[in-house]
Amino acid sequence: MSALLPTHLRTLQAEVADLRATARRGRYAPSPTGRLHLGNLRTALLSWLITRLQGGEWLLRIDDLDTPRNRPGAEASIQDDLRWLGLFWDGPVLRQSERRGLYASVLSALRRSGQLYPCRCSRRMLADVSAPHGRSGVYPGFCRSLTPHWGLKDRRLPSWRLRLEPGSLQWQEQLGPEGCLDALREVGDVVLRRADGFLAYHLATAVDEWALGITDVVRGLDLWPATGPQVAVLEQLGVDPPRYWHLPLWMDAQGQRLSKRDGGLGLALWQDQGLSPDVAIGRLAASLELVPAGAKLSAEELLQQSQLERLRRLLRQPQVVSFGVES
Ligand code: GLU
Repeated sequence: MSALLPTHLRTLQAEVADLRATARRGRYAPSPTGRLHLGNLRTALLSWLITRLQGGEWLLRIDDLDTPRNRPGAEASIQDDLRWLGLFWDGPVLRQSERRGLYASVLSALRRSGQLYPCRCSRRMLADVSAPHGRSGVYPGFCRSLTPHWGLKDRRLPSWRLRLEPGSLQWQEQLGPEGCLDALREVGDVVLRRADGFLAYHLATAVDEWALGITDVVRGLDLWPATGPQVAVLEQLGVDPPRYWHLPLWMDAQGQRLSKRDGGLGLALWQDQGLSPDVAIGRLAASLELVPAGAKLSAEELLQQSQLERLRRLLRQPQVVSFGVES
């Protein structure tokens, strides 16, 4: 695959390999779909902490490719909340919407390598196929043998899928057992360009982890299933996956995950009650027993008194649930 990349991307590949070998880099990558809730903020805090404890740089990337889901003002509120908590990122804010050229170059290189194929299955058809169990979501490969052409057929454009090889997709999971999914049975051929023309989240995210030299991806456990498709794309690019830290999710009193789009509990409530950032950091950290309940401390103070190994022990998941993947 490497040979198919245009020269500027091959140069980038060499630079990134050097960077990853010598320095650690983490990122926080929210989608601007609403105000961050406390679970998102706790993830941001831990992503910052885990990266800083390793002396790494911490980037803020806004995953805003899926424009219909973006909400006006969401990015500004994300930045405000992070600053209020004292979580300062390195360098400029990165926006996926401004990096489409990079993703498109990688997509064309993959297309030239013959690993992509057009898929003309409708959502409805795929829903019908998985209906009896309803949850699998693994593409059964109906269009694998279609002749590639970009054009309209029955007034529909195809989506483009990455053809996965049989075998397992593996990654280093820092807070649970080693990540391992069967490529064909548990992941299935990954959509890289959607039928509506949007570049897919898995493509953009995998390309960014690579091109930004990310060594540590710290994010919520809900994204554990997204790791298989992203590792598949990284493998195609000939790149080792970063290390993944999938964090416990914050549940509400009813045992439901907080959700940004439902306006789940955010910082506004604490700010309206007049709480200081030190109290907020104390509460976020105490919710995982990183500090005693009632502690008040800044993000910097939390960093000074934390140790990576202790943190890893406290956050370690007993097991990873296989979300919606049938065995
Ligand atoms: N932007 C996505 C989200 O907010 C994914 C984040 C990630 O990969 O860390 O859910």
